[in-house]
Amino acid sequence: MKYFTCKCQNTLFFDNSQCVACAREVGYDYETEEMVEITPGEKWQRCANGFDYQVCNWVVPAGNGPSLCPSCRLNRVIPSLSLAINQTRWAKIEAAKRRALYSLIKTLILIPSRKESQRGLVFDFLSPQPNQPVLTGHDFGIITLNIEEADDAIRELNRENLGEPYRTLLGHFRHEIAHYFWWLWFDDPKLNIELHQVFRGVFGDESVDYDAAIRVHYNQGAPIGWETSFITAYATMHPWEDWAETWAHYFLIIDAVETAQSFGLDNPRTCPLKVKDLEWTIPELPDPYGNQQYDAFISLIHQWSRMSPGLNEVSQSFGQRPLYPFVLSAKVMEKLYFVHCVCHHLPTATLSR
Ligand SMILES: [Zn+2]
Ligand SMILES: [Zn+2]
Ligand SMILES: [Zn+2]
Repeated sequence: MKYFTCKCQNTLFFDNSQCVACAREVGYDYETEEMVEITPGEKWQRCANGFDYQVCNWVVPAGNGPSLCPSCRLNRVIPSLSLAINQTRWAKIEAAKRRALYSLIKTLILIPSRKESQRGLVFDFLSPQPNQPVLTGHDFGIITLNIEEADDAIRELNRENLGEPYRTLLGHFRHEIAHYFWWLWFDDPKLNIELHQVFRGVFGDESVDYDAAIRVHYNQGAPIGWETSFITAYATMHPWEDWAETWAHYFLIIDAVETAQSFGLDNPRTCPLKVKDLEWTIPELPDPYGNQQYDAFISLIHQWSRMSPGLNEVSQSFGQRPLYPFVLSAKVMEKLYFVHCVCHHLPTATLSR
């Protein structure tokens, strides 16, 4: 994430609705990827969810009455606001969603809403009820989020209980959006046949029984030595989960590298990766931009590998856990590279359908 500059030259951040220096009303315009000033009667107005509930800082063109921004338009069920705590939860949820969408829009991946396409995406933000648990997940273009995950204490408890090194709302969005795009791009056997074959070569055959895979995972845990082939233990469960974890990780890296570059934090040391670390099989992709993409990917990984050890130490200077509790093995880089290529290869194909 980059930073922005107010007309008064003060620094603005992605989540700001007002400049703290000059009190201008501001909002984020997803089309120009800039923060813009909101002046009554002029070009922009606040997204209706920002105006009515203070949960969104994106802008929409002014003059057509209240309307929702492209992020809020994807919501189908919002938290019940009769409970005061849900307002706070919802604000955190929307902030994480906008940040996840920002990286997709920058990568030119457009998410169609249900109004635009039958295979569009919707979000249901649900609260568990007695005897009615809510499982966060994706199903046929519907992403369900248990809104309790917006409570730090609850999410942290879940993280501990599940033995995960990292659990965030933003991570949930990236992970579930990955499942959505797998469904959009690969679920129909007529679509992207060649790429699907490559997918299976890299991640394995996803047609194996998913429910059985879940049972095995929760009974036996991840196989010993999983770190050499997977980014997280959860990814070992099934090729779909491996894809979702890898995709989420790819977007974590992209966002972190952009942030570091924007703030000038990106040149601390030489890259600790040896050339042999980078000698992994390049998946053969039906992609006219192969080499260019390879160079861009390697440069991304180098930049990230230079920065991540320093970020871990900074985090520990605060007495916190390492910020980046992950290891990029050769096999994981092969998977990340597949995500990188697919994300640069398929979006246009999707848009033209
Ligand atoms: Zn200002
Ligand atoms: Zn909005
Ligand atoms: Zn998943």
